[in-house]
Amino acid sequence: MSRKPIIAGNWKMHNTTKESVELTKGIIEGIKDLNKDSLPEIVIAPVFTSLCSVACELKECKEIALSSQNCYYEPKGAFTGEISLDMLKDLNVTNVIIGHSERRQYFKEDDEMINKKAIAILENGLTPIICCGETLEQREMGVTDSHVSSQIVKALENIEPSEIEKVVIAYEPIWAIGTGKTCDSQEANRVIKVIRNTIAQVAGNAVAEKVRILYGGSVKPSTIVEQMAQSDIDGALVGGASLKAEDFVEIIKGAM
Ligand code: PEP
Repeated sequence: MSRKPIIAGNWKMHNTTKESVELTKGIIEGIKDLNKDSLPEIVIAPVFTSLCSVACELKECKEIALSSQNCYYEPKGAFTGEISLDMLKDLNVTNVIIGHSERRQYFKEDDEMINKKAIAILENGLTPIICCGETLEQREMGVTDSHVSSQIVKALENIEPSEIEKVVIAYEPIWAIGTGKTCDSQEANRVIKVIRNTIAQVAGNAVAEKVRILYGGSVKPSTIVEQMAQSDIDGALVGGASLKAEDFVEIIKGAM
C-alpha cells in the first residue's frame, strides 16, 4: 500500500504576517525547480492572523496546502476568541492540527474536546491532523503504547471508518518536541505501528493501511531520510525546522 507522504510545518506562535509571507515565498521559491510528481504533500500552518495573507501568497501554488493550528467545533456563537471551521474554509484552509501536546498541556484540551473537533473538521470536509504522544515519565513507566492507543481510540470515537481513512495522525513523543532530542527512527516506527494496529481495531485493516501517520519531534534535514525509510512513517510534522525556508525545503527533499 503506497501512502503519499506529507511534510507539514507547524509554525506555532511565531511570525508576524510580513514574516509569514516571507517564509511562504521562501518555500515556494525553494520547491519551484523540484519534480512536482515526486513532491510529498506539503502543508504549512501559520498563526491565525497570517492565514489570509499566506492564502493569497499560495493562490498560484498548487503544491502547498494551508493548515490552521487549531479550531473550535461549534459553527458560530458566543465563544470569544475562538475560530470556526467556516471561517477557516473562507481562507482556503484545508487541514487543521488538533490535539497538539502544547494545547493539551497549556490550554487543558482533553480527548473529548479533540474528538469533537475531529468530527467537526471532517463534517466540514477538511483534514484533521490529530497529534498524540507520551511524556518522558509515561515512557519511563512503560505505558507509551497504551497511552497513545487510548488517545487515538478516544479521538476517533463516533467517526465512521469511511471518514477515519481521511484523517492524518502525528505521533509526537512530547519529550522530543522542541528539545533537539529526536526519537530513534526504529522506535518511532514501532509506536506508529501500534497506532496503525489501534486504527485497524477501530476501523478495520483496509482503513488502517490508508491512514497517513507522521512522526513529529525535532525533525531536521539531517534526520528526515532515515525517518522516511521506515515502513510506517508517512511523513513529518515539523516545528522549529519549519521556520527556516531552507531547512523546511531540505526536509521536503528528504521525503522525495
Ligand atoms: C511540533 O511542534 O509539532 C514539533 C514537532 O516541534 P519540533 O519539530 O520543534 O520538535
